[in-house]
Amino acid sequence: MPTIFSQIVDGEIPARVVYEDETTFAFLDANPLAPGHTLVIPREEYERLNDVPDEVATDLYETIHRLVPAVEDAVDADASTVAFNNGEAAGQEVPHVHCHIVPRFDGDGGGPIHAVAGETPDLGEDELDGIAAEIESRA
Ligand code: AMP
Repeated sequence: MPTIFSQIVDGEIPARVVYEDETTFAFLDANPLAPGHTLVIPREEYERLNDVPDEVATDLYETIHRLVPAVEDAVDADASTVAFNNGEAAGQEVPHVHCHIVPRFDGDGGGPIHAVAGETPDLGEDELDGIAAEIESRA
């Protein structure tokens, strides 16, 4: 069963499309957190960022890079929060990679990306060194 976003790409479900090219696609979020809230997706379905092939990842970033100023300018925003919910535990509901571009306005009452974490961990120097080494060895 194709994801709801694939159905949008295929024109089976209506959406306010703001950009499309060979590999990427963008449209307004149906439940906007702010005017201009836009979703940028790869045309093909990949569940998580880590599933996206290198070439498509490059295209996806190019489209995000192009749309951030377009979205901000269109709604006269002061800034934007640009983020992926990458996996169910992070709040991803639609299993088709999508980048949220959420316009932000001075005094809009929203929080920074730091607000997404629950309880923050109290990590010692050794634990931090260990985690950094684990990541570095996989990067
Ligand atoms: P996430 O929680 O990161 O998976 O976000 C999914 C987003 O998709 C939510 O912000 C929804 O409002 C949005 N959404 C769901 N269905 C549609 C649709 N048919 N058209 C546009 N946006 C949608």
